[in-house]
Amino acid sequence: MGLMMGASKNSIPDIQENLRSVKEQIAKVAKDTLHEHTEIKLVAVTKMQGSAQIREALLAGQKVFGENRVQEAEEKWPNLRNEFPGIQLRMIGPLQRNKVKRAVKLFDIIETIDRLELAEAVAQEMHNTNRRIDCFVQVNTGEEPQKAGVLPTNVNKIVEHCRGKLGLPLVGLMCIPPVDEEPGMHFGLLAEMARRNGLFEISMGMSRDYKTAIAFGATCVRVGTAIFGERQSVTGAGE
Ligand SMILES: *Cc1c(COP(=O)(O)O)cnc(C)c1O
Repeated sequence: MGLMMGASKNSIPDIQENLRSVKEQIAKVAKDTLHEHTEIKLVAVTKMQGSAQIREALLAGQKVFGENRVQEAEEKWPNLRNEFPGIQLRMIGPLQRNKVKRAVKLFDIIETIDRLELAEAVAQEMHNTNRRIDCFVQVNTGEEPQKAGVLPTNVNKIVEHCRGKLGLPLVGLMCIPPVDEEPGMHFGLLAEMARRNGLFEISMGMSRDYKTAIAFGATCVRVGTAIFGERQSVTGAGE
């Protein structure tokens, strides 16, 4: 299989081989399930991975990456971006209002619009800076109290508000299913909500369930551990 799923923390993962293997799996599942999109985007999730690890993926030609913290991304990516042109960086973690300015400046896509107040702040910042970046609404499909995201019953309303009044460039929906539940029903729900709202992009599926997500119509999968191995402390990763 080549995936690093069961590997111990100490073994050094072969990142380029893992990347190749994950891409192969994605293509296989897409073909087997007659997925309507020929190209499913692989977002390589590099949170808590150092620049050396990230560079391996960049050298293998990977262009799309996800980070979940503004500060960490600011420390790691400007240098890498100078070195490797054409990178697309996606914000996939909870975004605090006081970091919106920095996030809009740094990221090319924000996948985690999870409340009206944040949608408004992001729209305002785009307006102020004349920079437009695509956004996803994050949906809390499992209705978990500790998890970020819009509740399923509020999705239509927030999507309408974002597209209408705020003029936010909204392209899709994103979810992280509960860890202890069968992810398929959550993926199915998210895909249905996206369809209903005329949103084309569906971001769902991580290392353990990206194949299921593709079967349910994911257009982007966010994979970290299966490519880079266990996450490290980010200390010292800022070059
Ligand atoms: C960390 C993270 C991922 C990747 O998780 P893995 O299990 O390492 O593949 C995907 N999406 C989000 C939102 C994350 O925070």
